Amino acid sequence: PAQVAELRHKLGLKVTGVLPPHPVTSFPHFGFDDPLIKTIRKLEYTQPTPIQAQAVPAALGGRDIIGIAKTGSGKTAAFIWPLLVHIMDQRQLKPGEGPIGLILAPTRELSQQIYNEAKRFGKVYGIQVCCCYGGGSKWEQSKALESGAEIVVATPGRMIDLVKMKATNLERVSFLVLDEADRMFDMGFEPQVRSICNHVRPDRQTLLFSATFKKRVEKLARDVLTDPIRIVQGDVG
Ligand code: ADP
Ligand code: MG
Repeated sequence: PAQVAELRHKLGLKVTGVLPPHPVTSFPHFGFDDPLIKTIRKLEYTQPTPIQAQAVPAALGGRDIIGIAKTGSGKTAAFIWPLLVHIMDQRQLKPGEGPIGLILAPTRELSQQIYNEAKRFGKVYGIQVCCCYGGGSKWEQSKALESGAEIVVATPGRMIDLVKMKATNLERVSFLVLDEADRMFDMGFEPQVRSICNHVRPDRQTLLFSATFKKRVEKLARDVLTDPIRIVQGDVG
């Protein structure tokens, strides 16, 4: 309807794909439970950022997402919050081993930032998070994986190494995030990213975020996402 188009325009969003949900511009309307709402309130976030307003309801609806927005637009929480809801939904059903959520990021620094954010919000549910990056101790990272991390934040090369070492398996991963996809490609991680996508079950939910949307990222999105909703904020290349 016209109001939805107007709202998206106001938020600076261009949205394409089959049946995207309406943007949601207030936290109470996301439908999160009290512990998560309280944590968000403590951070004094007054309202969702535009990318969050559109990506969160789409992700909560189980949809694959391509989210393109410049640095600083709040993309991390846009995938962490739905991932936490996804894990809480699965928890009663499936005891087992191996992470449920896997987030790939290009660098140690970025994976640690995501890890901190995942821990901050995951804490309210007692969700364990672990961070695996090149240069860190494989032994320590293996221990963290074995102790039952439900969310793993990893750089692609290290994730492959740890899977090869059988430190973990990705059979239970049903929520996959490719963060800063453009930078992962710039760093030469395309083969590793593709290999990991092939390891993870095909019926997973996949979210791809990037500051730019160049040909190679577009091609990856076509290969690894299913009927994605594409959300572009602002003028990005
Ligand atoms: P991006 O991944 O798009 O570069 P980040 O997820 O790192 O952006 O978020 C940038 C900053 O904005 C972080 O400091 C984060 O805590 C903050 N932030 C995220 N969501 C909100 C919000 N809804 N309101 C205010 N600040 C937010
Ligand atoms: Mg980011």
